[in-house]
Amino acid sequence: MTAAETGIADVVVVGGGPAGVAAALELRRAGIGRVVLLDREGALGGATRHCTHSPFGMREFGRVCLGGAYGRRLAREAQRAGVEVRLNCSVTDLGQDGTLALSTPEGAGRSGPSASSSPPAPAR
Ligand SMILES: Cc1cc2nc3c(=O)[nH]c(=O)nc-3n(C[C@H](O)[C@H](O)[C@H](O)COP(=O)(O)OP(=O)(O)OC[C@H]3O[C@@H](n4cnc5c(N)ncnc54)[C@H](O)[C@@H]3O)c2cc1C
Repeated sequence: MTAAETGIADVVVVGGGPAGVAAALELRRAGIGRVVLLDREGALGGATRHCTHSPFGMREFGRVCLGGAYGRRLAREAQRAGVEVRLNCSVTDLGQDGTLALSTPEGAGRSGPSASSSPPAPAR
């Protein structure tokens, strides 16, 4: 995770399950400029990805999806709405100054505060 990827976000949403994706979409619809969505997993969808039965998606998408397909649909909606999705990125702490401690396969580090343009690069 580089400074450019998180440093100037207006809002960072932690967790790309149905709740986090819905929040990110609503923020974009409300006119928030830069919304970054972080998830520690390698795909969006949260717990629904692990559900092989199919009651998901009827209300919001007008069709029933299996869990994996629902997660992929959420990802498409996020992309269309201009939400910046960062996967494999675990948030381990929220600092009082607004910085986030992040853990990724590349290493651990801190993001800048949501309004800062010059956060430190993640430590290796
Ligand atoms: C076996 C099972 C069957 C279910 N069946 C149904 C069903 O039939 N119908 C139905 O409506 N619901 C069902 N549910 C419930 C449904 O999956 C949940 O209600 C829904 O997934 C909750 O969404 P959420 O976004 O709140 O949380 P989650 O789906 O849990 O998503 C949270 C996301 O946040 C991420 N995350 C968490 N902490 C961090 C962190 N520190 N840093 C980065 N990322 C983080 C996780 O990786 C995850 O992707 C089922 C759940 C399970 C487990």
